[in-house]
Amino acid sequence: MQQVYDIAIVGGAVMGASAAYWLSRLDPGLRIALIEAEPSFHRSSTALSVASIRQQFSTPINVKISQYGFDFISNFPAEIGSAADPCDLGFQENGYLFLAGSDAAASAMRAAHAVQHAQGAQTQLWSGAELAARFAHLDTSDVVLASFGPHGEGWFDNMGLLAGLRGAARRAGVTCLSDRVTGMVRQGDRITALGLASGARITAGAVINAAGTSAAQLMRMADEDMPVEPRKRTVFVIDAPNVRVPGAPLMVDHRGFYLRPEGPHWITATVPESDGPADPQDFEPDWHLFEDVIWEQLYARAPGFDAVKVLRAWAGHYAFNTLDQNAIVGRWPGLANLYVMNGFSGHGLQQAPAMGRGIAELIVHGGYRSLDLSDLGPERIAQNRPFLEKAVV
Ligand SMILES: Cc1cc2nc3c(=O)[nH]c(=O)nc-3n(C[C@H](O)[C@H](O)[C@H](O)COP(=O)(O)OP(=O)(O)OC[C@H]3O[C@@H](n4cnc5c(N)ncnc54)[C@H](O)[C@@H]3O)c2cc1C
Repeated sequence: MQQVYDIAIVGGAVMGASAAYWLSRLDPGLRIALIEAEPSFHRSSTALSVASIRQQFSTPINVKISQYGFDFISNFPAEIGSAADPCDLGFQENGYLFLAGSDAAASAMRAAHAVQHAQGAQTQLWSGAELAARFAHLDTSDVVLASFGPHGEGWFDNMGLLAGLRGAARRAGVTCLSDRVTGMVRQGDRITALGLASGARITAGAVINAAGTSAAQLMRMADEDMPVEPRKRTVFVIDAPNVRVPGAPLMVDHRGFYLRPEGPHWITATVPESDGPADPQDFEPDWHLFEDVIWEQLYARAPGFDAVKVLRAWAGHYAFNTLDQNAIVGRWPGLANLYVMNGFSGHGLQQAPAMGRGIAELIVHGGYRSLDLSDLGPERIAQNRPFLEKAVV
């Protein structure tokens, strides 16, 4: 059976949902299909995210994107909610704390700080002594400089964001389909049809690739390549009864791990020693990483982590952009009606509000109207021109 839409969005997690929401807001007359293969979202990055947001990036556009994400999340009840469903995302504004352990890292931190301040962020730079005065549980002997973001940084309810965006899109008339796109028909510079696992066929004026870690697989259906691959990240939830620090931030330690509170417990993770493309089906946590890599570093940083119990762990996949670990967003070169929002690596959740709005502006108005996302355009791939973000976690 042939179904006809103005826009077909492949992938119904946070990026696809944000695009659907913004498209329906900018042009309520559009017929939009939001197609999701696994509506439980149990393997999506969105559901497996650590769901944190920061303004501490090294490029102006990434700072701006997250500032808008923070505004959107803060105003979520008014933006999305209804009296019956107020949609509070439980934002914990504890801030991010980045540590630098060398002069080179400290000078990069100072440069990023200047970029952040030029965009209106309130990031503060602290010496090791200032850090120790603020967070007495930390050993700061090897810290050359620290950067703390007291405003607009913290963590929030990822699935609340997803449910709110999908619900609002559905109420605005977006059709949510539970199906898998298995083929794209390309004729010249257009995608003329999508084939679905159910046997249905969709034609659409425009197609959006919001397929997360499957983004490159989708592009191959149109005979195109995209440098995005799944990379496994294991997240540990630990109990450390000797460390109770009200208001503790998300700390990104130069020794190679991050740590943040999660209720009465802590969340921690590291980049695996041999990072590389993951088996898309492999969601088994790499349990050894806590014992072999994280714990020693954690204890060295904060002796209260002498007694620790791993309560549980989960593994999720980054949609890792191997060119520059940054978003790839815009119209795909050489295809008049294929748009992409992919490659967000470890910072896509916070970028979803701005990305959805941007891609909707591009489709409805033919250009960006609020934030100019051109630096993140897909043209840079064929040109082999990385747009480097130095503050990648
Ligand atoms: C462990 C971990 C920690 C993270 N921490 C943070 C963080 O603290 N802050 C932050 O901002 N970001 C973080 N991220 C990144 C962030 O979660 C992602 O960038 C973001 O969720 C990407 O959303 P997405 O919609 O692009 O992809 P996904 O959430 O992966 O969704 C893609 C969807 O597309 C569907 N799909 C794929 N192929 C098809 C097809 N052919 N047909 C139909 N549907 C299809 C999939 O089923 C999936 O539901 C983290 C990610 C992980 C894994």
